[in-house]
Amino acid sequence: MQICATIPEARAAGRKARASCKRLGLVPTMGALHEGHLSLVCAAKAQCDVVAVSIFVNPTQFGPTEDLARYPRQFERDCALLEKENVDILFAPSVDEMYTKGEATWVMVEGLSDRLDGRSRPGHFRGVTTVVAKLFHVIEPDIAFFGQKDAAQVAVIRRFVRDLNFPVEIVVCPIVRELDGLAMSSRNAYLNPEERQRALVLQRSLRCVEETFRAGEKNAATLIAAAKEVIAQEPQVHVDYLELVDPDTLEPIELITGKTLAAIAAYVGTTRLIDNAVLNP
Ligand code: AMP
Repeated sequence: MQICATIPEARAAGRKARASCKRLGLVPTMGALHEGHLSLVCAAKAQCDVVAVSIFVNPTQFGPTEDLARYPRQFERDCALLEKENVDILFAPSVDEMYTKGEATWVMVEGLSDRLDGRSRPGHFRGVTTVVAKLFHVIEPDIAFFGQKDAAQVAVIRRFVRDLNFPVEIVVCPIVRELDGLAMSSRNAYLNPEERQRALVLQRSLRCVEETFRAGEKNAATLIAAAKEVIAQEPQVHVDYLELVDPDTLEPIELITGKTLAAIAAYVGTTRLIDNAVLNP
């Protein structure tokens, strides 16, 4: 695995792969890798000749009071995992490498960037789309792999790739869960054993939405009310949002007639977790 810390090195590695007509895949991550990340790597290995992974804890997608400083960083362990998966290129730049001082240019998807996580975390998606645009410019992948776990992020990225004519195919991989159903996340490491148990209520609430929907309920308000009853079983879990939205526009849906995203974000203690399920009539 070639480890690139600078933009010129990573650009040269990407170009070398593409020069030999190879399909180059990119898996952007913030590191602290788990099976969810590795499922994206696996999909990339299956669909591409050369696979690049980026590890960059992107400061511009964190709010001023969020967990940027304490976000888990496990570079050595991550490298070993990626070596084992036969990843070809690892791009792991420093903050100074990615952001020049005095930078004034941002990529932002209007509207979409203010919904779901974008509403609770102002500026979050602006940071995500800007850093993903930078990564695409540096690596120049043919395909980029993202997780359904971050469903709102997927909608925002699909839209910016379309609007800015990036020649990159976006592949979305299913949510990987722990055995008990908790969606894998680097932030699960923040949970103490009690919180870890309480966190299961996110998935239970989504299952309730799915089951109520399958039983014939199409009214979003009724489905949300049912899910909130489940959440109420864990009074120490505080819902940030629980919404049924169009998966592409992230606009709220009142009556389910097409594919619908049921998305939840909740605080378990001080840890903000997200999860989602897709309802498909
Ligand atoms: P992160 O390091 O949290 O920025 O995540 C990097 C990529 O991995 C994003 O595309 C995430 O959606 C994806 N990802 C994170 N957790 C999971 C999971 N449990 N299942 C599938 N993909 C995931």
